[in-house]
Amino acid sequence: YDDRDGKIWMNGELVEWRDATIHVLTHALHYASSVFEGERCYDGKIFKSHDHSLRLIESGRLLDMPVPYSAEELDAAKEAVLKANGLTNAYLRAVAFRASGPDMGVSARRNPISVAVTAWEWGSYYGDAKWQGAKLDISKWKRPDPETIPTAAKAAGLYMICTMSKHAAEAKGCSDALFYDWEGYVAEATGANIFFIKDGEVHTPMADRFLNGITRQTVIGMLKKMGYTVHERRIRPEELDEFSECWLTGSAAEITPVGQIGDHHYQVGQITREVSDAYDALVRA
Ligand code: PMP
Repeated sequence: YDDRDGKIWMNGELVEWRDATIHVLTHALHYASSVFEGERCYDGKIFKSHDHSLRLIESGRLLDMPVPYSAEELDAAKEAVLKANGLTNAYLRAVAFRASGPDMGVSARRNPISVAVTAWEWGSYYGDAKWQGAKLDISKWKRPDPETIPTAAKAAGLYMICTMSKHAAEAKGCSDALFYDWEGYVAEATGANIFFIKDGEVHTPMADRFLNGITRQTVIGMLKKMGYTVHERRIRPEELDEFSECWLTGSAAEITPVGQIGDHHYQVGQITREVSDAYDALVRA
């Protein structure tokens, strides 16, 4: 894990993988002052690299944590990491966080913002059984109100309940968990957005209270071009029984068919396959 060959971009330099360490008094470790990106490179081309770089900067801004690099510099850092590690098909992880420094308390304006970019090979997010359809547990935790925490940021602090929910799901033999939001509507999975089919039309929760995924936006655009009607709306848990197909979207998850959510069952259907094929073609175009 830590002690391996490879290069990591840290604050403007390529360093050895095993030397890319930080201090235990790192502010982010104590106070979750950290934002990140997950993206994929296909056949040497990073999918939507610039959009991810812009989102990292925006997430930092939302957390009062200015990222000290431009989107162009972040794009270049990602390219440099891929090249240094000889990777053409890979997952990339960029992270910006408040480092250790003169302030070790809640207020830490004088501590610098560190940025690191890493990359590694990563296959299917849910493993080889993808086309059997993922089984989702329903989390006991709720996605929070945007007035509680900046829900548009891809911020580490929003993932604490994701890890807890995913662990609980895995303990029940599921591969992920579905969150409802604080008002009880269907929201998203722990690292992916969700889509449903009913009578040949697409339904997906309105992304104004959780991460509006770059993959989600891409897939909505694709579906509309393919001629599908897409409804972005509030979805009630009682409706989970009315859908015929369901899939997840995310940079890591790509298009992952869902076979079951709690007691509700879905077929890995024709529209899911069509969307998955179109997405695979797009990212490699
Ligand atoms: N929601 C959450 C909680 C996520 O972690 C992710 C993955 N970044 C997504 C949605 C999907 O976002 P994207 O399509 O931009 O990867």
